[in-house]
Amino acid sequence: MSDVKIPLVDLTAQYASIRPEIDSAIQRVLDSTNFIMGPQVKSVEAAFADYCGAAVCAGVASGAAALDLALRALGVGSGHEVVTVAHTFIATAEAISATGAKPVFVDIDPRTYTMDPDALEAAITPATRAILPVHIYGQPADMDAIKRVAARHGLPVLEDAAQAHGATWNGVRAGALGTAACFSFYPGKNLGAYGDAEAVTTSDLQLGAQVALLRDHGRRSKYLHEVKGYGERLDTLQAAVLEVKLAHLDRWTAARRRLAARYSALLAEFELEIPYVAPQADPVWHLYVVRTPRRDELLDALNRQGIGAGVHYPVPLHLQPAYAELGHRPGDLPVSEQVAATCVSLPLYPEMTDDQQDRVVEAIAAFMAS
Ligand SMILES: *Cc1c(COP(=O)(O)O)cnc(C)c1O
Repeated sequence: MSDVKIPLVDLTAQYASIRPEIDSAIQRVLDSTNFIMGPQVKSVEAAFADYCGAAVCAGVASGAAALDLALRALGVGSGHEVVTVAHTFIATAEAISATGAKPVFVDIDPRTYTMDPDALEAAITPATRAILPVHIYGQPADMDAIKRVAARHGLPVLEDAAQAHGATWNGVRAGALGTAACFSFYPGKNLGAYGDAEAVTTSDLQLGAQVALLRDHGRRSKYLHEVKGYGERLDTLQAAVLEVKLAHLDRWTAARRRLAARYSALLAEFELEIPYVAPQADPVWHLYVVRTPRRDELLDALNRQGIGAGVHYPVPLHLQPAYAELGHRPGDLPVSEQVAATCVSLPLYPEMTDDQQDRVVEAIAAFMAS
């Protein structure tokens, strides 16, 4: 019925809007041939730390390395436990497993879909070494309550801010809310590189220095390796891209916020659960997620009309085959399971037009009437 497709995310439109700036930033790196730890790495690290309100930022290279290195820098390793959530992308838990520690999954709040602070408190044992909440969909977790629990037990809080660049809790940005924070710059994230890229921010200078050491083979100088580290540097080309894009991030976030508010207004009349926003939070809408018991049918109806709706995430981590070793069963985390079974992510990206959004809403209206 419709010929024009509406994707879940549109990276083409964004590149088209900033093409000359991006192309010349990339060209400058090519001309310099300074591909590893070129000056753009330091400058984007400083700019992003400043953006978050953190003291320092260490850029890292690949998938989940930020979480992995931050956990190791916090001293997490085998025999330890890290409390996190199951309603997230698997990288959150994989990073815990990579250190040798065990992820301990707790349930989420039914309104915000972020870590339930009471469940957190109940999950802490003498082996717990860190708390890893996820600012899912760009909505900050309840950092007041989580930090109160953390303080009572003397534990660090590592934010998984992969979906939350610029999101605030009580006016403080993700990246400056916990002991340290990890960001993903995967291309589809709110601030996306043109390949794999990530970063850790912190205001603990020693911790920041430890992450910077670990990501570059444990060295402070070329041939002296203080600790056994990793080859996980942020490369200069990605740093150059991120530097250009960071200057546009607030504008893109404003566009996401406007579109999210518009979705919420237009969808209010239907029997759908629209996103709840905690009074302390100003989310950045990495995803706009609604819930319905007829999820699979709605998803199918939208997809058949060329509307790129998705599900984030259909199987909670405690029920993934990869985590079978933990021995979880359906029913262990009822809220996470309920959300996983009913959530749909609607198309949302800064360049989306009102027209495109209206088409999504009309398709939902037609489905609801069916
Ligand atoms: C994207 C993401 C990550 C890290 O993903 P990479 O693609 O490996 O950078 C971690 N946690 C969450 C919640 C994410 O969405």
